[in-house]
Amino acid sequence: MTKKRSILMIYTGGTIGMVKSETDGTLIPLEMNNLYHYIPILERLPVSIDMHSMEKVIDSSDMDPEFWKELAGIIENNYLQYDGFVILHGSDTMAYTASVLSFMLENLNKSVILTGSQLPLGMIRSDGRENMINAIEIASAYDDDTPIVPEVAVCFENKLLRGNRTSKVNAENFDAFLSGNYPVLAEIGVNIRFNRSAIARPSFKNLKVHKNLSGRVGILKLFPGITKEFTRNLLLQEGIDIVILETFGSGNAPSGSDFVQIISEAIKNGKTLFNVTQCKGGVVEMGKYAASKQLLDMGVVSGHDITTEAAIAKAMFLLGQGFTGQQLASKLEKPLCGEMGRGEK
Ligand code: ASP
Repeated sequence: MTKKRSILMIYTGGTIGMVKSETDGTLIPLEMNNLYHYIPILERLPVSIDMHSMEKVIDSSDMDPEFWKELAGIIENNYLQYDGFVILHGSDTMAYTASVLSFMLENLNKSVILTGSQLPLGMIRSDGRENMINAIEIASAYDDDTPIVPEVAVCFENKLLRGNRTSKVNAENFDAFLSGNYPVLAEIGVNIRFNRSAIARPSFKNLKVHKNLSGRVGILKLFPGITKEFTRNLLLQEGIDIVILETFGSGNAPSGSDFVQIISEAIKNGKTLFNVTQCKGGVVEMGKYAASKQLLDMGVVSGHDITTEAAIAKAMFLLGQGFTGQQLASKLEKPLCGEMGRGEK
C-alpha cells in the first residue's frame, strides 16, 4: 500500500485566497479554515493537508526579504514533519519568491511548489482550484521514498516550471508564466507527465537554510535614448553593490563614449555589473557584437541565460553570504542551483 503523504500548505496572500464577501460583494481574504468549503474535493485527496497562514497575508507586490526569511524559516521548522510544501502566493512576484527560495534552501530534497491564480478562489471560473489541486498532487508525488520533484517550482495552468527559470509574462491569461530557457518540469493534462530528465536529482545532504539576504542590489534597464545623467545616477549611487544591467538581445549596450565611460567608472568604484538580457529567451554572449565586447573588456559579468528575477535573487543571496570582488563575480557567473545553463545543480 502506498504511504499517505502529508503536505504543509502555506498561505501568503494574493488573488488565490480571495472570496466575495457575503455582505457587500467586495473581495476579502479567505479564512483558511474555510478552504474545504470552497474546494470540497480536497477532502477526498489521499493526502493529509495542514494549513499555515502567514501572520500578515499580503498582495505579493508587498513581498520583501523579511517575508522571504519568514517563509524559509517555516519550511525549515517543518521540514522533517512533512513530505512536501505548497505555497499559495500572489502571481505578481511569484517568480521572485520562487527564485530566492531556490538559493535559500540548499540541499532541498522535498517539493516546494508555489501556486496562485488569476481569478479569486471564490469566483466561479477561478483557476485557483485546479492550480491548488495540481500543486498538492505534485508536492506529494513520490517514487517509493524519493520525491519526484525535489526542488522549488511554480505550478500554474497546465505546467510545472523550475522556480528560478520562471517569469510572469501575462497579467490576464490563465497561462501566465514562462520558462524561456529551461524545459517544463511537468505537463499537466489527463495525466501529470513529469519530464524527469529536466528535474533536479534528489539531494542526500541535510537541508541548509540561508537567511542572509542583502538589499544592496539594483537594476538598470537600458532603452534607446537613455541619458547619461540617468545612467550615471543609477550606476554610481551609494549603497548599491550589484547592478543588474538589463541589456538588449545577446547582451548588447550603447557603444557611445559617455556610456562606456560611466560603466568603467562604476566598475572602478567597486560596483559589480551583471549583464542580463531583456529577452525572455536566449543567452548573453558578450563579445559576439562589438556592442557587447566593450562590456566584457571592462569586466561586466555575464548573466548567460538567467532571468532578471533569478538575477536579483542570486545577487541578494551572494551579497548576503559576504562575497565581494572577484569571488563574487565568479559565483555570479556559474550556476548554483539550476538557475542558468543546462540546469546543473
Ligand atoms: N496582485 C496579486 C498578487 O500578486 C495578483 C495575483 O495574485 O495574481 O498578490
